[in-house]
Amino acid sequence: MRAALGFDIPPRPSDMSLSARLKGLLLDEIGEKALDAIEARDRRHPLTIDRIDLADVLACEANYVETKDVPFEYTPQKARGSLAGTMLRRWYFRDQRPSVERDWNPVEAIHEVLDELSEQDDKLGRFIAGLSSGGRADVAAGVLDVVHAFEEGWPLDIDPKPVRAHSSLRSKLFGGRLILTYKVGFKFGQPRPQGGVPMSSVVLFDVRPGREYEEEERYNRWYAALLELFQVGVAPLRVVTWYAESQHAVADTIDEGKLEAAARRVAGGVRRMAELAEGRPPAINPGWRCRYCPLGESCTEGAGWIQDA
Ligand code: SF4
Repeated sequence: MRAALGFDIPPRPSDMSLSARLKGLLLDEIGEKALDAIEARDRRHPLTIDRIDLADVLACEANYVETKDVPFEYTPQKARGSLAGTMLRRWYFRDQRPSVERDWNPVEAIHEVLDELSEQDDKLGRFIAGLSSGGRADVAAGVLDVVHAFEEGWPLDIDPKPVRAHSSLRSKLFGGRLILTYKVGFKFGQPRPQGGVPMSSVVLFDVRPGREYEEEERYNRWYAALLELFQVGVAPLRVVTWYAESQHAVADTIDEGKLEAAARRVAGGVRRMAELAEGRPPAINPGWRCRYCPLGESCTEGAGWIQDA
């Protein structure tokens, strides 16, 4: 398991020239014209994108245009993901000495978490407070499924422990005209100087509670690695996705080719956003989003995809 997390790979030295080269590539591929078009859309708010915006615009532009401004609302499924993350963070970081054997009772813990969060005046708090007792029990059961799967499939007492949980990666580019963000589940290791050179043995680790969408997750891993490179000047050794439902981990060793592919993909997404902001009609491209798309009833391509799937 240590090998899957990349702890056996030698630390990587910082490489500011790689970071600068990829920022340059990003700017060249996006182009000033596209950045101007996006800026003209709303001068007060720079374009801030995360992995979901990027995946959405690259998957089906019509779905992206329809959903991008819809305020985020929790559903039992979305709440399950957030709550599972909270539970795992608490599990790892309780008393700073996590261990499966210590006094951890997941059933009690999830109800504590639900009680606590329902007092919060935010979207998740209000969603939990508004649940019926049956709805609350269903959400709790869904979260416990993820936690139990984690318990069975992943050694929580692994050494070294993660140093951060729910860590925000953020990169402000081109004088603040473009902001890229990513929230990573757990971060193992920290950049440290070795012989005067900053070295990184960072491994990023994400838990996905639902279905496996490995094709998109692969790009998410590379995107997270790119942001870590931009933020600290050195890419992580590995990025791992762990799928709770299938108990399957994919450990991606990061190299320059993957970082470059991530930069090109970001540029492709931003260019599309610029073209759409300038009024180009969105393209339709059916895929798994059709199952949840608000345009589903009026979209023949989407209906056809669902029928054949
Ligand atoms: S139903 Fe599918 S193809 Fe149609 S707009 Fe939605 S996501 Fe795109």
